[in-house]
Amino acid sequence: MKTPWYEKTAKEIRDAVHQGEASALDIVNSFIEHADAVDGTVGAYTQRWSETARTAAQRIDEKIRKGLPAGALAGVPVALKESICTSEGKTTGASKMLADYRSPFDATAVTRLQQADAVFLGKVNMDEIGLGSSTETSALQRTTNPWAPDRVPGGSSGGSAAAVASGTCALALGTDTGSSIRQPASFCGCIGFKPTYGRISRLGIIGIASSLDHVGPLARTVEDTALALNVLCGEDKGDPTSSDRPVPDFTRSLGRDIRGLRIGVPKEYLASDLDAEVRQYVEKALDQFRNAGAEIVSISLPCTGYDAAAYTVISTAEMSAGLARLDGVRYGARHPEAKSVPDVYVMSKSAGLGTEVQRRIILGTYFLSGKNRQDYFVKAQQVRTVVKKDFQNAFEQCDIIAGATTATAAFPFGSKSDNPLEMYACDQFTVAANLASHPALSIPCGKTAAGLPIGLHLQARSYDEETLLGAAFYYEQHRGFEMGFPSIL
Ligand code: GLN
Repeated sequence: MKTPWYEKTAKEIRDAVHQGEASALDIVNSFIEHADAVDGTVGAYTQRWSETARTAAQRIDEKIRKGLPAGALAGVPVALKESICTSEGKTTGASKMLADYRSPFDATAVTRLQQADAVFLGKVNMDEIGLGSSTETSALQRTTNPWAPDRVPGGSSGGSAAAVASGTCALALGTDTGSSIRQPASFCGCIGFKPTYGRISRLGIIGIASSLDHVGPLARTVEDTALALNVLCGEDKGDPTSSDRPVPDFTRSLGRDIRGLRIGVPKEYLASDLDAEVRQYVEKALDQFRNAGAEIVSISLPCTGYDAAAYTVISTAEMSAGLARLDGVRYGARHPEAKSVPDVYVMSKSAGLGTEVQRRIILGTYFLSGKNRQDYFVKAQQVRTVVKKDFQNAFEQCDIIAGATTATAAFPFGSKSDNPLEMYACDQFTVAANLASHPALSIPCGKTAAGLPIGLHLQARSYDEETLLGAAFYYEQHRGFEMGFPSIL
């Protein structure tokens, strides 16, 4: 049987469209039909834009017919996280507060994808406002892990990862403030890439904590990740934190020889509470790198453990300021029974924001109040500086830092929802890259005996996405297994 389009990579789709071997409309229809069949079970999509997707596909086919140049992602079906502003549909951040919010404009990342002729199939679920590690805090719906219906897809970009893994899009856009692209990618068995801070514009993203927020792609192959980065990266005058560094052609870093590449393994990562199967597959991946001629070096990141605490303080402090705009006045649903100004704030926020969002705002306000500011916020900033120094030192001894993305594979629904500290611990290996700004990705490195994906986390120096992609591409070619598609399909 011919491989259906939804099983093909973004690169294969793009090439087929460019060469006139397939129409973008047929491809988009194949994805739409597939989503009709499986997304009822997965629940990744919160909005389906099938009609506009077909129209966009027809426009691309028209271009090809006329011999006009088509973009680098021509006909590639993409899903967008609910927190990414689009002039089409709603941008809810999976919050009741923004249930009816319509953005007047597209996020820069969306515009860039559109200019590259990608086709948007709709929007996908997430933890409310991006706060969580399981997508369980969404006010919209439940999203299940395509590999195991009793398990969470991870979060906060759980819908993005579940859609990519279940083949209901070829690429998805997520955001990562403290792991939210990489942790769900690890749980769902796809690639999640957080670029260097500043590489991809955040204009038009529902921000959580500006000094930590990143946008990035989720994909099924490293090559597709590189293609997406080529389109997404680059300066944007609309985002003052965006970098004006030239953007290389990331696909050129694929196929690099990894002999002599120094891969650092922090002793703190392996000493932690890693699940036995996770440890086994991460060690196997390191062996594969060693056998290929990479040098595995033992390093130390003494900040491990303190980084997550610093993340909690800094991110919630920024949230307590930034999320104040969700007040029923500037943004969000105003409570219909509020009769006084204080009522507007209290009643609108109490009704519109879920427990986790409220908890973060209260925590952040506490960390910034009076003397706490010095004791918590200033101290956390000092820790952040130490984290950055630790990584600078580590990257003098190695080119890549490797470890597990998460200590365990995907967990069952409800198993951590009453225990915020356990939930926050999901980010223990991944938040440091947000604090220190360098690029990091998760790539599948195996499956547990129960069939749950395991993720390998690779980190590189700031602006050295190429080394990261080169190492990941090598690994993908030699890891000795195909992730394939979950059996629900
Ligand atoms: N698990 C992280 C948190 O809840 C995810 C934040 C993010 O990256 N959006 O803070």
